[in-house]
Amino acid sequence: VVLVQDVCKEYRRNDMVLTVLHHMNLELAAGDFMALMGPSGSGKSTLLNLIAGLDVPTSGHIQVCGEDLSTASQSTLARWRARHVGFIFQMYNLIPVLTAYENVELPLTLTPLNRRQRKAQVQTALDIVGLADRMDHFPRQLSGGQEQRVSIARAIATDPTLIVADEPTGDLDTASSTEILDLMKRLNEDFGKTIVMVTHDPRAAAYAKRTLHLEDGRLVGDTDVANAETIA
Ligand code: ATP
Ligand code: MG
Repeated sequence: VVLVQDVCKEYRRNDMVLTVLHHMNLELAAGDFMALMGPSGSGKSTLLNLIAGLDVPTSGHIQVCGEDLSTASQSTLARWRARHVGFIFQMYNLIPVLTAYENVELPLTLTPLNRRQRKAQVQTALDIVGLADRMDHFPRQLSGGQEQRVSIARAIATDPTLIVADEPTGDLDTASSTEILDLMKRLNEDFGKTIVMVTHDPRAAAYAKRTLHLEDGRLVGDTDVANAETIA
């Protein structure tokens, strides 16, 4: 599903060049659940954004769900994201003036689905996260954990192949984090979603099938939990 080949990413400001990713290679199979760990500033979010087609590499190639993201135009990327990727963020990023239902429906308005079809998808997604009874609530009427579950419903509403999550439990207490992680695990195991999750929390990483460690924009370790071996 995901193929990262010799990818470098630089940020330029005036005549300053900051190299954030160095010749990165990475492969993810369909149904993988990968945790991305590493110190602050090591390039985790940068790598996640490249895989999700939110940004393009300076050099190298990224292929995700059949599209070469490194050469695609902005409009192709936008269409591709709407079809293939679900996003989960640390601060949920729900729209405060929309209800839970309307927030989940939002990405579906970018698809050709009609109102009735959208309604069915929204209800399925809210059922999966266990919040069908809260669909008329506004974000401020929900707990942090519930807000994150609405954002997960929004991420899966379009039935994407890939789900990317940037510190999804970073702002939650232990109990809510466990709920969110159990849910992510279910999306991976029962719904076959391929997941890439950035996290600082080793407990969160333990839910993944694989953990990738980044340091200064380089891959320093790839642990395949199922085979319990580390390829450094
Ligand atoms: P954290 O754990 O703090 O979220 P991270 O591993 O996600 O860190 P990144 O956000 O990928 O780190 O940032 C890697 C480096 O790139 C940092 O030095 C950051 O300041 C820099 N950086 C990130 N985005 C940009 C940008 N748009 N323009 C310039 N520099 C950037
Ligand atoms: Mg980050």
